[in-house]
Amino acid sequence: MKITYIAHSCFLIELEYTALLFDYYQGEIPDIARDKKLFVFASHRHPDHFNPEIFRLAKERENVFYILSYDIWKSRVPEEQRDQTVHLKPNTDWEAQGVSVHTLRSTDEGVAFVVKAEGRTFYHAGDLNDWRWEGEPDDWNRRMEENFRRFLEPLRGIKLDAAFVPLDPRQENGYALGMDYFLSLTGEDSRRKIYPMHCWDNYGIIERWFAEHPDSPDRECIVQITGRGDSFIQ
Ligand SMILES: [Zn+2]
Repeated sequence: MKITYIAHSCFLIELEYTALLFDYYQGEIPDIARDKKLFVFASHRHPDHFNPEIFRLAKERENVFYILSYDIWKSRVPEEQRDQTVHLKPNTDWEAQGVSVHTLRSTDEGVAFVVKAEGRTFYHAGDLNDWRWEGEPDDWNRRMEENFRRFLEPLRGIKLDAAFVPLDPRQENGYALGMDYFLSLTGEDSRRKIYPMHCWDNYGIIERWFAEHPDSPDRECIVQITGRGDSFIQ
């Protein structure tokens, strides 16, 4: 399969018969073969995760399905696309056309997605992350960590082929809290690939992770993204 990093938290996964597009925000969407079914996901309504431009795709091709978080209002979906759109709440299962989706609750808005297609399993976090900030009160940060770990629990020990997980430089020294817990929870598996996201175009934050984790067994799993449009064959 081919995975293309488009921008911020937006990735395109191209499988043999299916394509999955997550959290389109801006940047160029590559041409996707017309005979593939296209599933377009949006984890929540924030403008860095949801851009109504995604509805254009249904005008250009057939077999497009929209899987949106419940916090994206139906009124934001053009009338012509409402039949091919679902709005999912957290902890919900949905399946159609050979693709199954399970949603997790987020520590921000909306949901995270676990998606199975063509025998592979993917995780896209949306903004589900350990958003601890220096300067927030200790009990706020403690509650954040507890919620993050609780919401992530369905992923314990799960086998993932590819995962898209925030690594946000704005968190300063806390940038890797969410990533490192995610890596420990999901268990070692050298086949999986983890794509850092939500980096605000600062890919040095991925280099920082490598520099600060010299002995981590997950080094070979983390994908070093260098810029928009990078693509990876997996
Ligand atoms: Zn965001």
